[in-house]
Amino acid sequence: MRAFPKGFLWGTATSSHQVEGDNRNNQWALWEQQPGRIWQGQTAGRACDWWRNAEQDFDLMVRLHQNAHRLSIEWSRVEPEAGQFNPQALARYREMILGLRERGIEPMVTLHHFTEPLWFWRQGSWLHPQALSRFRRYVEQVVATLGDLVRLWCTINEPVVYAALGYLVGRFPPGEHNPWRGFRVLRQLVLAHATAYHTIHERIPEAQVGLAKSLFIFAPWRPQHPLDRLMARLVRYLYNQQVLDALKDGHLRPPLGWDAQPYPGLAGTLDFIGVNYYGRTMVTFSLHHPKTLFIHEFTHPEGETTDITAAGEPYSEVYPYGLYELVRWLWHRYHRPIYVTENGLPDADDDQRPRFIVRHLAALHRALQEGVDIRGYFHWTLVDNFEWADGWKLRFGLVALEPTTQERTPRPSAQVYARICRENGIGEDLWAQYGNDR
Ligand code: BGC
Repeated sequence: MRAFPKGFLWGTATSSHQVEGDNRNNQWALWEQQPGRIWQGQTAGRACDWWRNAEQDFDLMVRLHQNAHRLSIEWSRVEPEAGQFNPQALARYREMILGLRERGIEPMVTLHHFTEPLWFWRQGSWLHPQALSRFRRYVEQVVATLGDLVRLWCTINEPVVYAALGYLVGRFPPGEHNPWRGFRVLRQLVLAHATAYHTIHERIPEAQVGLAKSLFIFAPWRPQHPLDRLMARLVRYLYNQQVLDALKDGHLRPPLGWDAQPYPGLAGTLDFIGVNYYGRTMVTFSLHHPKTLFIHEFTHPEGETTDITAAGEPYSEVYPYGLYELVRWLWHRYHRPIYVTENGLPDADDDQRPRFIVRHLAALHRALQEGVDIRGYFHWTLVDNFEWADGWKLRFGLVALEPTTQERTPRPSAQVYARICRENGIGEDLWAQYGNDR
């Protein structure tokens, strides 16, 4: 038995727009209406119907022996117009969090998971001069409503993904190809994290506040080629490292900032690091990719790959060993407790997910044995949900969903994960069936 520490959190992760349904007041609702933005013109629609009945999936979590859940608050519901807060929306979130607690499920609450209210969006989003004070005002309301029920807070989900897909790659709103605006947005998100960190701690000193950081293994495609090696290092720095460095020592280094002094209030604002890990990507220098700073990324042609995205490429390469490498790196560099806040794959027929889960958890177990402080694992995700630009094409759920009928059908992996959650570890027979150290 690969046993995990007592009190380890076992759960799944979701986000408001992807599961609640009927979110019409954020920038994604707008984006979904533009032709060509989402696979086959799909929309989130009713999603998983959580706004009406999240509780049916909370019951499912209990049946699957999960003891934690990461969910996000939809800012556009809480503050539909600038400065106007909706008491019914706040009450619904309180009801949901209480519903989790009553079922013995520890909530982790994310404050910003890609979506924001239309009024905020239309006024320039994070580049508006008052963006940070607006965010603070929203966070204050959420903390005043939920503070007594929530210990684990995740400020911002994947700031680099939000900035890169929106402002560099153009697959998320606003669909721009302007790296310099992307860096300005990213800088704002880093500052927004620190703002939320302090706002939460003023009210709940014992809260644990972190952010969910997307991390990949970036490997040079031609390991002997100096430019490929350089590009891999550069992208590792820009993607994995610079945000965490800034939150560790308070320095906004280029291209996020140019000051010699640390930015006030930024240093030491991570009580934990949330890791969102989806695999490995190869990196090469390419003159054909000036828009992405001459960095070209692709999945290893011989690696194990997942289902195919709307763009016709595998979503990622499955690479469990990378999770071990990354949590070790984080621990040695930052010395903060770690939660895996997302890890999963699109695999509609579930022929990979059971071994995916077992192998990624074994990678964590190995790091735990070496003293890395890992406190929980949130699989992405419980039930198939709206996968942004890929619409309903990619299926990440332990449980399959037919969005039109809302019918749920557990995949075999739901039982595999349930056993691990119940036994607080990976049993020998599961390892014999699915295991492999790499
Ligand atoms: C995001 C989720 C998304 C998942 C799978 C993460 O980058 O936080 O919202 O559904 O990846 O693509």
